[in-house]
Amino acid sequence: MNIAYLNGQYLPIEQAKISPLDRGFLFGDGVYEVVPSYEGKLVGFLPHLQRMNKGLEAIGISTGWSENQWLDLCLKLIQQNGAGNLGIYLQISRGTYDTRAHRFPDKVNPTIFAFCFEIPPAPVADKSLAKTYTVSTARDIRWDRRDIKSTSLLGNVLHYQQGVEQGNQETLLFNDRNELTEASSCNAFIVKNGSVITPPLDHQKLPGITRQILIDILRNDGNISVEERTVTMDEVAEADEVWITSSSREIAPVIAIDSVPVGDGQVGDVWLAAQTLFSANRFNY
Ligand code: PMP
Repeated sequence: MNIAYLNGQYLPIEQAKISPLDRGFLFGDGVYEVVPSYEGKLVGFLPHLQRMNKGLEAIGISTGWSENQWLDLCLKLIQQNGAGNLGIYLQISRGTYDTRAHRFPDKVNPTIFAFCFEIPPAPVADKSLAKTYTVSTARDIRWDRRDIKSTSLLGNVLHYQQGVEQGNQETLLFNDRNELTEASSCNAFIVKNGSVITPPLDHQKLPGITRQILIDILRNDGNISVEERTVTMDEVAEADEVWITSSSREIAPVIAIDSVPVGDGQVGDVWLAAQTLFSANRFNY
């Protein structure tokens, strides 16, 4: 049974009901998070919570919840759903009001919803076991505040679907200056001559927690140089390795872009070094 949380109650997910007048449903007016958990151990709970709180602040929603309340919610969901490999999904919408109007209602309680879904076991640092990706490319059509983890994901969904329809598993996105932003549900990295390079944080991309943890781990280790700087379409095409990162995938090697092999078309040595460090340190965050 999948036990969810909705506005103060734990209940089987089939019984969790929200009004169609909820602003999350009508406007996509809310934010969400996904915190990974392996065998009962959370990865990056605090940075995930900090990003969520920043998003809530940016869109003017206040839950009044403390860090401990959010942690308690995550731990209760793990307890009630069995400590396997879980993505813990948290969503806060501005709430349900009695009519449809764009302006923020004066008095409305946020809708707080959470549930768990199964994710694959934590990736292992082994080239032969790595899940490899092939990706499409597209001009990024999304809004100008991609740093907010908004539930309005239509642009992301359309970009992801383009990849699927072209036989791929993701889509790399470029702005109108042909600079890499991210992928539709992941951040993106390239490797060139042993250096790991990823576009800098700004409003064009989500500040991914896996990105943040990976950069921190690499810098602490000190053996691989990390640059946060603009990455052009040409640099992506000429990269030795390309990776996409997200909470459930960690560091995923991309072996072809628009059917053209990346580097030698194999999982790279720098990926192996990076995933080895990530696997050793994931529970320290
Ligand atoms: N960018 C986008 C658009 C995403 O949806 C996600 C999460 N799926 C990421 C990046 C990666 O973020 P995180 O590492 O926090 O999962």
